[in-house]
Amino acid sequence: MSEALANLLNEKRQFLPPAELAADANVTSSAYAEAADDRLAFWARQAAQLTWSKPWDQVLDWSRPPFAKWFVGGQLNVAYNCLDRHVAAGRGDKVAIHWEGEPGDSRTITYAELHQMTCRAANALTGLGVTAGDRVAVYLPMIPEAAVAMLACARIGATHSVVFGGFSADALTNRIQDASAKVVITADGGYRRGKPSALKPTVDEAVANCPSVEHVLVVRRTGEDVSWSDRDHWWHEAVEQASAEHTAQPFDAEHPLFILYTSGTTARPKGILHTSGGYLTQVAYTSHAVFDLKPESDVYWCTADIGWVTGHSYIVYGPLANGVTQVMYEGTPDTPHKGRFWEIVDRYRVTILYTAPTLIRTMMKWGEEIPAGHDLSSLRLLGSVGEPINPEAWMWYRQHVGRGELPIVDTWWQTETGSMMISPLPGVTAAKPGSAMTALPGVVADVVDDQGRSVPDGGGGYLVLREPWPSMLRTIWGDDNRFIETYWSRFGAGAGGDAEAPWIYFAGDGAKKDDDGHIWLLGRVDDVMLVSGHNISTTEVESALVSHPSVAEAAVVGATDPTTGQAIVAFAIPRGSTDTSGEAGEQLIAELRSHVAKTLGPIAKPRQIMLVPELPKTRSGKIMRRLLRDVAENRSLGDVTTLQDSSVMELIASGISGSKSDED
Ligand code: ATP
Ligand code: MG
Repeated sequence: MSEALANLLNEKRQFLPPAELAADANVTSSAYAEAADDRLAFWARQAAQLTWSKPWDQVLDWSRPPFAKWFVGGQLNVAYNCLDRHVAAGRGDKVAIHWEGEPGDSRTITYAELHQMTCRAANALTGLGVTAGDRVAVYLPMIPEAAVAMLACARIGATHSVVFGGFSADALTNRIQDASAKVVITADGGYRRGKPSALKPTVDEAVANCPSVEHVLVVRRTGEDVSWSDRDHWWHEAVEQASAEHTAQPFDAEHPLFILYTSGTTARPKGILHTSGGYLTQVAYTSHAVFDLKPESDVYWCTADIGWVTGHSYIVYGPLANGVTQVMYEGTPDTPHKGRFWEIVDRYRVTILYTAPTLIRTMMKWGEEIPAGHDLSSLRLLGSVGEPINPEAWMWYRQHVGRGELPIVDTWWQTETGSMMISPLPGVTAAKPGSAMTALPGVVADVVDDQGRSVPDGGGGYLVLREPWPSMLRTIWGDDNRFIETYWSRFGAGAGGDAEAPWIYFAGDGAKKDDDGHIWLLGRVDDVMLVSGHNISTTEVESALVSHPSVAEAAVVGATDPTTGQAIVAFAIPRGSTDTSGEAGEQLIAELRSHVAKTLGPIAKPRQIMLVPELPKTRSGKIMRRLLRDVAENRSLGDVTTLQDSSVMELIASGISGSKSDED
């Protein structure tokens, strides 16, 4: 039988947690044993950390798989858990958000203030006729009102659907229509790359085609002129004049909390539905365990946008449920200069930083002198999410941001999983650069072959989750069949055959277990390349390229090839000072091809390497390999609506037509 996915990369470095962090860690190694011993009792103990208005009767109802119910019969209010209970406990004066606008303006908001703002917004939404179960679309820049809008919806039981502020009118229209949103919360605009960037005109255009929308609530951020209609209301009138008194009503644990569309890296985005009790339990627990959050002393900063699941779970719900102080930043990392992030870390004495590999690789490209010019001594823990992190990017992050000593948590999860699933625990795990290591306590992950059998250590295959988890998606909004089809039909009972078999969740990602049984994510299975009968992951070849000192970032795809079935075509972004002109460029390409062959074996040697200035990415910064595959195979481009910058494709395509395919 052929292997499901080849294991080529051999990374031996490993780093123990710092002794000081380990000695005082929120979670120790005993959590794994406790969870393994009785998984449901473990999750019940985590849920009990929240404040419930009515206790649950049953931890998990899995009698109608794949439709799960967690904490059945329990009632709670999600916003109460993020705000009121901290204020009630005397922590109202604690800073919840240090917000920094891109132009340099800033706001400091305490838990008591955030609570008041949320109560006012809840009253205003109720005044506009929003009731529990209604959907509210949120289309905002990274301003505190974005968190307030989400919390206000949660408070009154409305289901929010946050749409990333960079999306076009079409994308916004589709998402509003799919959820039949009754209200849209937006702003006149936000600041991006040093300029006001309007949002309201996009909403006007979208709402013209969305009959479900009754009201539009508009935050004034840039002060630019906007056109106005009867359905529009200024936030500073409707919300800021509403009463700050609001009593949170409890909702069922399974009450819908939000719909969020996936990033759209692979296909048409899916409206992922999350509910209340289980979701909050797992985002709160993982924030506590993986970030080792110490609300008394930590200043936490997640650089994601609120429009992605990372912003939902690890800016809004997880950190606020834990009562921690956090930083929120409106703009881009290079406005007005490339050291902006490090300036923010220093200004607020950030202790925990959570960011994405795309940013780390961009920082590598810009050069280590930039972080070196700032005082980063407040940092004690680093995190990564969104894509596989190449071992060399991991090492760079540790070396140049983490002073060569900080632990890095590489957290694997998805919009669908709601919370982190596979990650080191910072006080427990001896982390390996590039590996997400092990499933978190209470999570059962595995790597399986085509037949759904566990692969042995050293083997590669498909990443699956064998047991339901509290923050799992409940369905795809309005499309139960697509939910079953996409996630539950590949392996186990949902694949047909044995009805007694367990239901197994298929994540869509490839992975391998190393010789110690640690998990390495290998990219999406749709991207796997079949070269001369070997299934080769994009991630391993990309990591081999990034391990060359001249490469900052790389993407590889399989292109149809007459002799090998598919051949590896690579796109590489050189590091800052690299000379790529003429002969120097040709030489570098030759060197990179043999570097990959040396690192991974001759089977992985790219047929062709293109040096490019940028790569096509989704608006959340993930590489879109399917577009590169279109280019490599001379096809017209597929759906580009989730692409960040369409001119990138023209740049790359023009480079390709001019490049030689230098076959051996
Ligand atoms: P779509 O499902 O529409 O194609 P998407 O998968 O990009 O979009 P998200 O839910 O934002 O949407 O991303 C989750 C995916 O990101 C994971 O399935 C995985 O491929 C990748 N990912 C996230 N974190 C990690 C990580 N730490 N290591 C490796 N891959 C990761
Ligand atoms: Mg996905």
